[in-house]
Amino acid sequence: MSARVLVVDDIPANVKLLEARLSAEYFDVITACNGTQALEICSRAECDIILLDVMMPDIDGFEVCRRLKANPATHFIPVVMVTALDSPADRVRGLEAGADDFLTKPVSDIVLIARVRSLTRLKMMTDELRMRAITTMEMGVQAPERRAVNDLGTGGRVLLVDDRPSSYERLAPVLSTEHTVDVEPNPAEALFHAAEGNYDLLIVSLGLENYDGLRLCSQARSLERTRAVPILAIADAADNTRLLRGLEIGVNDYLLRPVDKNELLARARTQIRKRRYAEHLRDNVQNSIEMAVTDALTGLHNRRYMESHLGTLAEQAAARGKPLALMMLDIDFFKKINDTYGHDGGDDVLREFALRIKKSIRGIDLACRYGGEEFVIVMPETDLHVAGMVAERLRRSIAGEPFTVNKGLKRLDVTISIGLSTLEIKGEPVADVLKRADVALYRAKHDGRNRVVSAAA
Ligand code: GH3
Ligand code: MG
Ligand code: MG
Repeated sequence: MSARVLVVDDIPANVKLLEARLSAEYFDVITACNGTQALEICSRAECDIILLDVMMPDIDGFEVCRRLKANPATHFIPVVMVTALDSPADRVRGLEAGADDFLTKPVSDIVLIARVRSLTRLKMMTDELRMRAITTMEMGVQAPERRAVNDLGTGGRVLLVDDRPSSYERLAPVLSTEHTVDVEPNPAEALFHAAEGNYDLLIVSLGLENYDGLRLCSQARSLERTRAVPILAIADAADNTRLLRGLEIGVNDYLLRPVDKNELLARARTQIRKRRYAEHLRDNVQNSIEMAVTDALTGLHNRRYMESHLGTLAEQAAARGKPLALMMLDIDFFKKINDTYGHDGGDDVLREFALRIKKSIRGIDLACRYGGEEFVIVMPETDLHVAGMVAERLRRSIAGEPFTVNKGLKRLDVTISIGLSTLEIKGEPVADVLKRADVALYRAKHDGRNRVVSAAA
């Protein structure tokens, strides 16, 4: 999918020029000739990135940028200021308005395309994460953005990789005014340090002695632990070609020497904010995945997870010629517990029961709440004989120690019945194994409860 770029400039010739260059690279281009129009287009979510002129008659570029970034609905559209103003003070002003990057007029073709590519790539990635977070959690569409809009980007953990004392002795104190900063003057140690430190931002000097800073950036990009950590490169103006390579391999932003202190702080804040937002989204997705497979009351897996995973376990067992045992457990006279101690008392029993199950099984066993007061435990590499011993031990751990309910005020005796079965034939449907355990459980109930019954093979 090609990204859609909004070009905003009050001078038609400037619009035409950028439009032609971007179209030649197969970007989809739309245009606006003033700030008001640009805000309208953005509010309809019709673009993936904005190239924004600073000096415009109605609302200037800084103000357009500020409004876009303050609105949760448009906050995550990357804004590139296109400006003839090129003093550090102007850049800081733009960064403070929330700009993601700057292009100086006249705009160089390569830089233009490199920046637009890297910013749209990043946006599509966060869009994807955001979509998943929203659909899976059915949360308010604006929720993650609201938090991000309010994040100042300070208080981050920063690793500065720079082997020139004259440079890091100047930069580290500046960064320390807003973040926790570690300096790594040895580039050979930097990757290890970065992977261990749980950083929010890596700042890498590209002018390292005897070491290729770009290689370090590329390694940080391919390493699992550092893949998502933003990289801010510091380069000499003469390093333009290497800088472009850097942007291609995933450097997120850069600064040219001599480094302006305020610009350094502003760019660091921007990267840290983006990093936190992406992390927050990832956590949401992770949580929702966990929620989808976990039973909320007991913390055990739920039936859906067990049923989808049981098939895999059965296939593995068959392929490796190993046994697989399954037990189905049901609390005896649970209805009476509810009737006597209330529904909350019943819930206490279910929670405690789950804890006792967790204590008596191995890490590779899979325990799940199958329904109401029925549980299933799948035990790989376990034959009927061993499974019978585990089941008996579990039965005793329940019957042998009273349960406490109603905030520890009441104690009661609980017993369970267990039906056991094993995978009998290679390729046998797991539903059959479950069915046999269920039949055995029924017999355990019928024979008087508080007992273990193995399915007839
Ligand atoms: P049996 O010994 O034959 O298993 O008798 P029982 O009373 O345990 O079995 P039955 O299946 O008749 O009753 C199960 C009860 O479990 C009925 C239902 O209200 C209750 N129950 C199901 N889910 C929950 C829950 O999440 N919390 C509580 N407190 N009770 C639940
Ligand atoms: Mg029961
Ligand atoms: Mg029941």
